Amino acid sequence: MKCSQSYASGHGGPPLLGLTVGEVLDQAATRWPDNEALIVSDQQVRWTWKELRERARALAAGLLTTGLQPGERIGMLSTNRAEWLLVQFGSAYAGLILVNINPAYRTAELQYALNKVECRALITETQFKSSNYIAMMQSLAPELATSTPGDLHAERLPELRTVIQLGTGAIPGMFTLQDVADRADSGSLRALDRISTQSDFDAPINIQFTSGTTGAPKAATLTHHNMVNNALMSASVLRFSSNDRLCIPVPMYHCFGMVLGTLLCATSGAAIVFPSASFEAKATLRAVETEACTALHGVPTMFIGVLDDPDFTQYDLRSLRTGIMAGAPCPVELMQRVIADMHMSEITIGYGMTETGPLSTQTLPDDPIDLRVGTVGVTLPHTEVKIVNEDGCVVAPGMPGELCVRGYNVMRGYWEDPERTAEDIDVSHWMHTGDTATMDENGYVRIVGRSKDMLIRGGENIYPREIEDFLYTNPKIDQVEVIGVPDPKFGEEIAACIRLRDGEHATEEEIRSYCRGELAHFKIPRYVRFVDEFPMTVTGKVQKYVLRGRLSEELGQALRTSQRTGAVT
Ligand code: AMP
Repeated sequence: MKCSQSYASGHGGPPLLGLTVGEVLDQAATRWPDNEALIVSDQQVRWTWKELRERARALAAGLLTTGLQPGERIGMLSTNRAEWLLVQFGSAYAGLILVNINPAYRTAELQYALNKVECRALITETQFKSSNYIAMMQSLAPELATSTPGDLHAERLPELRTVIQLGTGAIPGMFTLQDVADRADSGSLRALDRISTQSDFDAPINIQFTSGTTGAPKAATLTHHNMVNNALMSASVLRFSSNDRLCIPVPMYHCFGMVLGTLLCATSGAAIVFPSASFEAKATLRAVETEACTALHGVPTMFIGVLDDPDFTQYDLRSLRTGIMAGAPCPVELMQRVIADMHMSEITIGYGMTETGPLSTQTLPDDPIDLRVGTVGVTLPHTEVKIVNEDGCVVAPGMPGELCVRGYNVMRGYWEDPERTAEDIDVSHWMHTGDTATMDENGYVRIVGRSKDMLIRGGENIYPREIEDFLYTNPKIDQVEVIGVPDPKFGEEIAACIRLRDGEHATEEEIRSYCRGELAHFKIPRYVRFVDEFPMTVTGKVQKYVLRGRLSEELGQALRTSQRTGAVT
């Protein structure tokens, strides 16, 4: 395909499906009833597609008995556990809108997420590493201590009625997940069937929080149609079949895990392998070897972590064939190492964002190697991509501009926020991604930068404004500017440049501990610098790029000095 301008419409691929998420699992359970669907060795789980369907339906019917109504929101706060699959498919069967909550969130963020979309129910893991989710909920809703499960009335979480925990012991005011599944009976299963047959594939079914440039996270709302078909298109690029086994170290609270991971497997009958609750290089290597995985997904830093593991060469990865690297710029050298050292000869790069379900472009396994490692591929089938300049005009091939996407995959909008939706999706239905890209004459896209004020640390998108807004709650701080500085391990690290109020004193550690417990760990500034004044433009805007340059220089020098010192000693 030759483009005389930077516009492409994806071709080929399977036809779009008019199915709900629940119907995709029904089909998988009919076509591959006894094939392995889910393997989580930490939890001794090995479920077939038939078993997964039965368990998800039982949970769905049980959820209905707690009084939840189709269209209501149900939050999921958990790392990658087997229960995630039950909740993903169970909520879809019951017509509930699943709200993915990042397990790294702390109380302020959790409260915001639950209230923003008015969650009626929350399913929560009890604890993971330093995160005690039960304690977080008890501090947000002390009323739990005296509530009957399913009948919470909490001052700070006014819409929330039901809290369901993934542990086994009783906790005041909460159901266990098993309690809820056990409540399923013939009546609730019949009600479930009625809801499932009436479900509309264009209905919203999932909400994911993506941080906004204007501070508070935005609640991107996706439909069955967005997600089912995105999974299907990507599965076709990967040439997935029921012989494949996909290792998923990427988190389920993000589209990468739940659409390109689990849902993609359900469209093709491939087995899902969760190597660990959150990413661990060794667990990933072990799972690929023991489960003979044919595919592995990851953000670039995960592949770096796996390749740099000191025991990397001890593992047999010859079963691997393909997978997706996405979520942040994918360095050419890294792709080359993954192909050569991990036997992933057919690995592809995907480009997308939560608001587009997620993928819009992907490299093809048969592409020449330079395009496979140096671009984010071509527009996926049934999707359009254009690159526009500041006036909204499509640019000539090779010229940079903002990448815009249109198609079945573009979200429904931000939850009950028509204004912010209209800022990103224009009247012609183009989603403006905020990413700067070029498209060559053959339709291959390269991401060259970001027009929005975002940084990506180890695959996590971070919006400085959100951290700045939080730091402004500290009365010692007069002005704060948060920037990203280059980092060899995470791609970028967070730095906060702070001017204190007159007469105030603070230390770097004090600022960091102010954030701890309130902000997710990945949003806590690694570097804190106190300044007397900020570099400004003539129109009075802070020149963040000048700050970034200064700090990068300082940190680069520090690194060089420590390397020199290290060499001498
Ligand atoms: P999220 O909404 O968390 O999926 O993040 C989407 C953002 O990640 C995009 O807007 C891009 O800035 C970035 N991104 C995703 N995939 C790629 C990629 N392959 N190359 C460069 N940036 C990417």
